[in-house]
Amino acid sequence: MTDRTKGEVWVFAEQEDGRLSGISFELLGKGRELADRLGVPLAAVLMGSGVESLAVGLFEHGADTVRLVDDPELKIYRSKAYRHSMVELVKEIGPQIVVFGATHIGRDLAPAVASALRCGLTADCTDLRIGDYSDPKTKNADGTPHLCKGVLLQMRPAFGGNIIATIVNPYNWPQMATVREGVMKPLDRVSGRGGTLVRHPSRLEGVDIPVEVLEIVRRTSSVDLKGSPIIVAGGAGMGSKENFAKLFDLAAALGGSAAVGASRAAVDLGYCEHDRQIGQTGQTVRPRLFISCGISGAVQHLVGMQESAKIIAINTDKDAPVFKVAHYGIVGDANEIVPKMIRAIKQKGG
Ligand SMILES: Cc1cc2nc3c(=O)[nH]c(=O)nc-3n(C[C@H](O)[C@H](O)[C@H](O)COP(=O)(O)OP(=O)(O)OC[C@H]3O[C@@H](n4cnc5c(N)ncnc54)[C@H](O)[C@@H]3O)c2cc1C
Repeated sequence: MTDRTKGEVWVFAEQEDGRLSGISFELLGKGRELADRLGVPLAAVLMGSGVESLAVGLFEHGADTVRLVDDPELKIYRSKAYRHSMVELVKEIGPQIVVFGATHIGRDLAPAVASALRCGLTADCTDLRIGDYSDPKTKNADGTPHLCKGVLLQMRPAFGGNIIATIVNPYNWPQMATVREGVMKPLDRVSGRGGTLVRHPSRLEGVDIPVEVLEIVRRTSSVDLKGSPIIVAGGAGMGSKENFAKLFDLAAALGGSAAVGASRAAVDLGYCEHDRQIGQTGQTVRPRLFISCGISGAVQHLVGMQESAKIIAINTDKDAPVFKVAHYGIVGDANEIVPKMIRAIKQKGG
């Protein structure tokens, strides 16, 4: 029997229309850390049709190996085709960890693969680490708890985000998790970094794929929070939709690359659309500058923005939890302070 602790760490390299998604690079960053800790190779699993050239980018972002499954049947994502090929590949190679993005595709594929392999899956992880787990239910001969070494510690908010749970799957491997976009950091691209490309068959011959894609209609969002180096975010404390609109003026004064985000309460109050929501059930962002206006700082919001490089928080309540993560805090009325900021920026010439 092969030693399962020697198995690779895998990252599902998601691509659409021959373009790798940002999450693929984010997962490689974390995957590199996990693989190095375990002393095993990091492999990216790349599935699609005519996508071999994408392997270069995966190597340059940290993959030692790219496991390529290239087949015209995999051109457009379809659950059954991807699931079948992925399951066969896992059975053949035996990775110890497989990580997917918590994207539309990842959220569809990962549970289907986990179910077919009868292993566990932790969804929407916010952190992954390698550690030891002492299993109280399984005892050694001397009665001490069995120690499972080097398992994947899968962290995610639980009970409405009020606690961070650490979930382990020490027995039914591979250990599988999905990770939300924007949570992990990609490694800097190392131009010219190479690796091993291994081509695998899709094993789809004779497999009945019941779905035929007739047309793809994309809903495009005009809000690019993830790509914005500056985010001005507002919460219920802005008090009204009209007051919230001042945040767009502040973003405009800060330059074209600043975007407006919001807390869930602000979205629920109708101050702006859901595309702008930041947090556990919104987007995860890490801009260079995050200006928080009238947001209390509930844990479900903080998980989506606390990795920002610099945080300025404005709140009337000096004890608001947002100040715990802020680098600069202003205790005061955002509706007075935001116009002052706009004036000051304009006076300085933007
Ligand atoms: C499962 C689950 C998922 C969730 N997901 C998210 C999520 O993705 N994102 C998210 O944001 N929330 C999420 N929430 C909701 C979260 O718990 C909070 O309710 C929400 O973040 C509160 O938004 P808020 O801070 O804007 O509003 P409030 O909690 O009402 O806080 C308003 C703040 O504004 C301050 N304030 C009032 N007037 C002013 C003023 N004039 N100037 C300056 N400050 C002022 C107040 O002191 C207060 O701190 C989730 C909750 C659950 C249970």
